[in-house]
Amino acid sequence: KEGITVAELAKKIHKEPAKLVKDLFMMGVPTNQNQSLGSDEVEIILAEYGIEAKQEVVIDPSDFEHYFEDAKNQTEHLESRPPVVTIMGHVDHGKTTLLDYLRHANVTEGEAGGITQHIGAYQVASDDRLITFLDTPGHAAFTTMRARGADVTDIVVIVVAADDGVMPQTVEAINHAKAAEVPIIVAVNKIDKPTANPQKVMQELSEYGLISEDWGGDTIFVEISAKFGQNVDELLEMILLIADVEEYKAQPNRLALGSVIEARLDSSKGAIATLLVQHGTLKTGDSLVVGNTHGRVRVMSDDSGKRIKSAGPSTPVEITGLQESPEAGDRFVVFEDEKTARSIGEERASRAQEERRQMTHHVTLDNLFETL
Ligand code: GDP
Ligand code: MG
Repeated sequence: KEGITVAELAKKIHKEPAKLVKDLFMMGVPTNQNQSLGSDEVEIILAEYGIEAKQEVVIDPSDFEHYFEDAKNQTEHLESRPPVVTIMGHVDHGKTTLLDYLRHANVTEGEAGGITQHIGAYQVASDDRLITFLDTPGHAAFTTMRARGADVTDIVVIVVAADDGVMPQTVEAINHAKAAEVPIIVAVNKIDKPTANPQKVMQELSEYGLISEDWGGDTIFVEISAKFGQNVDELLEMILLIADVEEYKAQPNRLALGSVIEARLDSSKGAIATLLVQHGTLKTGDSLVVGNTHGRVRVMSDDSGKRIKSAGPSTPVEITGLQESPEAGDRFVVFEDEKTARSIGEERASRAQEERRQMTHHVTLDNLFETL
């Protein structure tokens, strides 16, 4: 059904989603937060709460949420985009080995002088199709980014060592992926080891609802050796299979929107940010606001360090030209002109400063009361 979800409506009318679901139930409309409501239903709800339906919604240009909402609700001029994948799993189960294997398998000899620079995200080609991998170390980065509103991952690959089985951080990874509501692929790793027991991994994961297709479930399991590259091609094929089903799309022909994967301050180049373009096309010279800072895209390079002039949806890039270093998980929005970007950037910066000031104030008061 076309329309607005219960959760979206709750946000618009400043109600708790759970409260709205409860009230709807009392009105005889059983729903959940993700369910779409038709305009008739919305009208009844608004009447019940005594809210004017035809109210003009005032859009705050410094609130980034609505730019992303708008882009997500686009139905026209969409083109397919590469899936964005995060690899998670227990420590020592082979995440880094897999990411390294993928990265090197994709670096042609002599490219960028044979030096692979690290930009926190990169693309791999399989059958002439691209897959974007986020090279974010640890689960914390994933949760931090999500907490900051940057739901950039389409697919989570959970690596489980076949000689070790399900461990605490495996469970944590499953929970993160489930919370993000993204498809999971299980990569049963280290199958080259004589002690590997993939059946045991399957058994253990079934207790968390991840049941392999062989066992009548719908979770894709791939047995790999990240160290030797065995079956890694198949893993890529499975990622593309999910991409075929999910049909990830974005509109390339608009001002770019996206998220910060990582950022740092370089003594000579200033702020260097790795961005993931999520909607539109980012171009050199673009004026943008990134988190609470702003600037213009001065130099833009791809994951192999090559300078590029434009980057479409799902492309990770590294840029310079920002006033300050943003934070991982910050959103970026490109604006028509430098003046707008500057004023919105400055407004966001001063608001953030005010929030920080109030927070310090609170802490001080709390401490004061504690000592009384
Ligand atoms: P991470 O903590 O998940 O990033 O794990 P690493 O990638 O650092 O791997 C931990 C250890 O397992 C390293 O010594 C790797 O060489 C080893 N390892 C990773 N994948 C494989 C594999 O497929 N087979 C074997 N035999 N060892 C592996
Ligand atoms: Mg690692």
